[in-house]
Amino acid sequence: MSDMNQQMAARYKNNFLKEIEEQAEMGNWVKMCMQCGVCSGSCPTNFHGGWDHPPQELFMMIRAGKRDEVLSSNSMWQCVSCYNCYVRCPRKVPITHVMHGIAEYAYRLGRAPKMQPTLHLSQTFWNNATKYGRVNEVKLTQSLYFKDGIASGIKKAMEMQSVALGLVKAGRLNIMEALGGGHKCKDLKGIQAMLAKARELEAKRKGRQPA
Ligand code: SF4
Ligand code: SF4
Repeated sequence: MSDMNQQMAARYKNNFLKEIEEQAEMGNWVKMCMQCGVCSGSCPTNFHGGWDHPPQELFMMIRAGKRDEVLSSNSMWQCVSCYNCYVRCPRKVPITHVMHGIAEYAYRLGRAPKMQPTLHLSQTFWNNATKYGRVNEVKLTQSLYFKDGIASGIKKAMEMQSVALGLVKAGRLNIMEALGGGHKCKDLKGIQAMLAKARELEAKRKGRQPA
């Protein structure tokens, strides 16, 4: 167990609902769920299996204090933010945001499942956006394609060449801009200062050190 995970477990004792309410983004909505199951029935990714627990089950487990099972679950990482559940929930629970809030909290505690493709994509996307001030699609694609080595990256690039050509033809991929390193941002320092301040305020609100 990571230090932070131990500290949080000790701080909240057996009150996992309170822990989620205070530590996870939008976690205070979990108690509003009335277990109707509309969210799970509406979820396109849940239909394909692979989820440890559908959303309403995860919410009940939080209320039942199943801390380990929830934090190590793959469920929050399967959500693709389609908002189907959110618009249909009779209690107006912002399920999409709650799922991402629980995922972010599990990540902070070092409980995110290893080898999770969603985690890898979101980390790569976030690092890219914060480093360049906006999503640099060229660098993002490079990071994702070459994450398993040069040979695997070249193989993926060859597989996707018809898609790249289609994007060029449709004017969605500018070769000259790509060769120059992709999109740039006008005030990178300003954006990074804003993000640092946001981290500081968020950490103060949650009573922890800035990430
Ligand atoms: S649709 Fe809303 S109220 Fe119904 S189970 Fe899902 S979160 Fe709970
Ligand atoms: S927003 Fe996420 S949890 Fe909700 S229906 Fe879409 S994939 Fe499922």
